[in-house]
Amino acid sequence: MDCGKIGKLLLSLRKEKQLTQKQLADALHVSDKAVSKWERGLGCPDITLLNNIAKVYQVNIEKILDGELEPNSDDGGNMKKIKFYTCSTCGNIITSTGDPEISCCGRKIQPMQPKKSDDEHKMSISDSEGDLYITFNHQMSKEHFINFIASVSYDRVMLVRLYPEQGGELRIPKLPYGKIYFGCTNHGLWVLN
Ligand SMILES: [Zn+2]
Ligand SMILES: [Zn+2]
Repeated sequence: MDCGKIGKLLLSLRKEKQLTQKQLADALHVSDKAVSKWERGLGCPDITLLNNIAKVYQVNIEKILDGELEPNSDDGGNMKKIKFYTCSTCGNIITSTGDPEISCCGRKIQPMQPKKSDDEHKMSISDSEGDLYITFNHQMSKEHFINFIASVSYDRVMLVRLYPEQGGELRIPKLPYGKIYFGCTNHGLWVLN
C-alpha cells in the first residue's frame, strides 16, 4: 500500500464531500489527528476502517487501496458499442455503452465477447408488418437456455428477456440498422451476421 497516494486520494475525496477532518474522524470514531496523518501520507488507515471510509466516500475499497479512481474516457454514447454482462450466480443481465467496473453477487463481471452464430446458436428472422419475427431451435431447459435477445441500433436497444420452457419464437419492433444479439446461459453472447 502506498500511503502517500492513498492519503492524497482521501484528502481529495474529503474536499469533494465538503467534510472537515473532525467530521470524518467522528464518522469513523477515530481522532482527527489520525485523519490528518493519513492525508499527509504519514500512515495508512487501519484495514478495519476501510469499509466505513468506502461508505462515507461512496468509493470502492479497492480504489482507496489503489490510491486513485482512474476515470474512464468520455462515453460517446453510441449504442452500437454496447456491452452485455450476465451474472452467473443470479442471472442478472446488465448492459453498458461505456467501460464500467461491474460486479454482482460480490464478484466482478467481465463483458461477454460476442461470437458469430453457429449451428446450435442461430435465429431465423423475418419481417412481419414492421416487426421482426424471430424463431429459434435452441433448447430452453432450466439448465441451458437463451436468456435474452437484443436488437441494437445506434441510439437504442430493445432487450427481451427469455425464460426456460418458453417457446422459441417472439416478435419485436424492428429498429433501423438493428443488429441482433442473444445470450445463452451456457455459451455466452452471440451475434447474428
Ligand atoms: Zn448476481
Ligand atoms: Zn447454448
